[in-house]
Amino acid sequence: MNLYGELAARFSPQVVRYLREAGELAARSGRHCYIVGGLVRDLLLGWENADIDLVVSGGGISFAEEIAAQWGGRVVVFGDFDTAKVLLPDGWSIDVAGARREYYPRPGALPQVAAADLREDLWRRDFTINALALSLGPEDLGRVIDPFGGLEDLRRGLIRVLHDQSFRDDPTRLFRAVRFGVRYGFQLEDRTCRLMSLAVEGGLIRSVSPQRLGAEIRKILAEEQVLPMLRMLTDFGLLQAIHRALGEMDWALLRGLPAALGVFDPPSHGFAYIAGILFHQPLEAAMEAAERLALSGAEERKLRDLLVNWRFALWCLNWPNLRPSTIYHVLSALPEEGLALLWAYSGAPPIRERLIAYHERLAKVQLSIDGNDLAALGYRPGPSFGKALRMVLQARLDGEVSTRQEELSLAGRLMGQMEREDA
Ligand code: ATP
Repeated sequence: MNLYGELAARFSPQVVRYLREAGELAARSGRHCYIVGGLVRDLLLGWENADIDLVVSGGGISFAEEIAAQWGGRVVVFGDFDTAKVLLPDGWSIDVAGARREYYPRPGALPQVAAADLREDLWRRDFTINALALSLGPEDLGRVIDPFGGLEDLRRGLIRVLHDQSFRDDPTRLFRAVRFGVRYGFQLEDRTCRLMSLAVEGGLIRSVSPQRLGAEIRKILAEEQVLPMLRMLTDFGLLQAIHRALGEMDWALLRGLPAALGVFDPPSHGFAYIAGILFHQPLEAAMEAAERLALSGAEERKLRDLLVNWRFALWCLNWPNLRPSTIYHVLSALPEEGLALLWAYSGAPPIRERLIAYHERLAKVQLSIDGNDLAALGYRPGPSFGKALRMVLQARLDGEVSTRQEELSLAGRLMGQMEREDA
């Protein structure tokens, strides 16, 4: 099978020229250069993918430097074994690695690595459909190399590991199996499925670092079909194996979340899903789960703010005749993702209207005065500044003041009052 036509149709003539030249350059010194991994799979399936990963026999970093010198690009060397990124002048980048073999000293540990040939490099990969290569050699440009039956599995729609030790070597592949299976609508091949169940029962997930688990879960949460993936992860017991708090989710809430994310578009959709999964959990269990997923310090604070405050916010939003400043007060205690979660959780129209009002209007209200204006009026800076400005904002939200002059005179009155009380 030859994919040169598909390659040429997918990339600009300039990029195709780069790839051909890479193959020719390697061949001139008796080496071989291949495109590997996801791009070959997605060329065959007709899926979008513009990530070019090259594997070269001989040194990867030295080859990256050679092609960068030829094309006027720049090389960034990764900490990973013999791997580099070539940044090209027209904005493209290409990852280059020396062909390698991996050996796993114990489950979940990072592998020990040594230079090897293409077959060994493909053997260390996760699934047969990801263990395909496309030759860039001038003799056989575009030829697909398929040592492990990846083409047949692509045709049949199967996710299959290359060998029985695969999940033991790297348990993050359990999550990747679910992600690729659902993304492409492929079946998990029977034996692979059994090996997955055995790996979960054997407690292999415990050996994986929070950073690696968090990275895999975030990739899943960035996919289009998040919910079916979460469902399959739960069916395999994979989320529960990370932390029991991740296994008790409110499916109705999660089903409403994609639409809510469309309405509020908060900074991190991935964090919104994690917070949604942990929405009903006691704070302590949720924070333990967050640690197992290596949430950042800022995300941990957002999660805490959400879990501590959402019930009270929802209770308040249920009251009739709320002042805008009260809506502002309770909702500004939540992270932005919390608005989407409350919207998904509560279908009640008055609550949804208030969430929208906050998001579209109230959260954007800003005073036209600040501490400098209070100092210019002759008041001494201190905590009373913040208090006065908060009260002016409240008046502004409730429509009691609207011009800068009105804000200033209210602030002046409040400062005078506070100074008299202190005296
Ligand atoms: P995506 O479309 O999600 O980016 P991809 O296959 O390109 O899919 P990457 O994570 O970029 O995914 O990995 C590139 C290739 O590296 C894979 O196709 C696979 O061959 C190999 N690979 C990545 N992660 C693993 C892993 N944990 N174990 C074995 N091989 C892996």
